[in-house]
Amino acid sequence: SRTLLDVRGLCVDYVTESGNIRACDDVDLTLKRGEILGVAGESASGKSTLLNALGRLQRMPAATSAGEIWFHPTDGSDPVDIATLDERELAPYRWTRISVVMQSAMASLNPVIRLGEQFTDVIRTHAPEVSEAAARAQAEELLTMVGISADRLTAFPFQLSGGMQQRALIALSLACDPDLVLMDEPTTAVDVVMQRQILDQVLAAQERLGFAVVFVTHDLSLLLEISDRIAIMYGGKVVEVGTAARLHSSAKHPYTRALRRAFPPLSEPVRRLSGIPGSPPDLLALPAGCAFSTRCGDAMPLCHQRIPQLRDIDPGRSACFLTNGELSDEELAQQLAA
Ligand code: ATP
Ligand code: SF4
Ligand code: MG
Repeated sequence: SRTLLDVRGLCVDYVTESGNIRACDDVDLTLKRGEILGVAGESASGKSTLLNALGRLQRMPAATSAGEIWFHPTDGSDPVDIATLDERELAPYRWTRISVVMQSAMASLNPVIRLGEQFTDVIRTHAPEVSEAAARAQAEELLTMVGISADRLTAFPFQLSGGMQQRALIALSLACDPDLVLMDEPTTAVDVVMQRQILDQVLAAQERLGFAVVFVTHDLSLLLEISDRIAIMYGGKVVEVGTAARLHSSAKHPYTRALRRAFPPLSEPVRRLSGIPGSPPDLLALPAGCAFSTRCGDAMPLCHQRIPQLRDIDPGRSACFLTNGELSDEELAQQLAA
């Protein structure tokens, strides 16, 4: 099968003094080998919570409370539900099958170890048979791929610019030829020109090495340019899934459309980020019914009472009564007239 990841019913809770915060609520997602899946949504929609759960990186007070994360290795070995693995069982998956790029490179790179040494450490820890020289050659190749010249291998991370640190981390994430790279806002901390450059390099590396990517950002227009498919999150739930092409031309969910207006194309000369009126919901006090109902211009009476389900639409998925087929034509007409 070409399936790489099959996430079913994933729930992640933060257990806090004020209550249980479900930041990832019954998430279903699939990812094919080599596919780039974008995950978009405003701040606090649960994007990082989801990504951390997929990489098994979450720490207390976060805990996966339900669901399965089936990973199908590309070497044909048996699929495994990585949600059930303990740290020892996870170790062979980290870097070699699943690697991670976080927003702040300096939180992941060791500032006082030379770049080259960090590459050879990672490579030789996971493939002890690789010689020091071969590991170094591989590091040079990866760095060149992201536009960093090989002489920087002797630099310490703190000597590099922010953009270069971020690119070095991306190169490092590819060191063990992973099947899947999880990226959480990897370009948010750099300027727009650098962002463009980094994205082009990631796409070129992806084309060459064939890894799949889950790419998290609040910036939907950026995802429209780089993703194969996109999942939109709101209030901890996935509310729409579709190909980038479909979301570009005919987004079905009112929240997706609002995000589109809030993030005009990167190519626009003056990019004014207007934001969506109102604020994201408090996960401890979600509105009744559809979580978006308090901000939705299309809300109908039922929207304040019943939670719309994420259902298959043709093509993709939507969690809005207007498009998900949950209501009969008659019921929908009634709601629209009310
Ligand atoms: P951003 O775009 O700001 O990075 P996000 O979509 O990545 O936002 P998450 O970081 O996943 O959002 O957070 C989702 C929700 O989970 C938050 O609104 C908050 O309620 C809860 N949350 C996140 N981290 C914690 C924590 N350490 N303790 C308690 N609750 C948390
Ligand atoms: Fe808006 Fe109702 Fe659709 Fe929710 S279900 S997005 S409130 S129209
Ligand atoms: Mg985040």
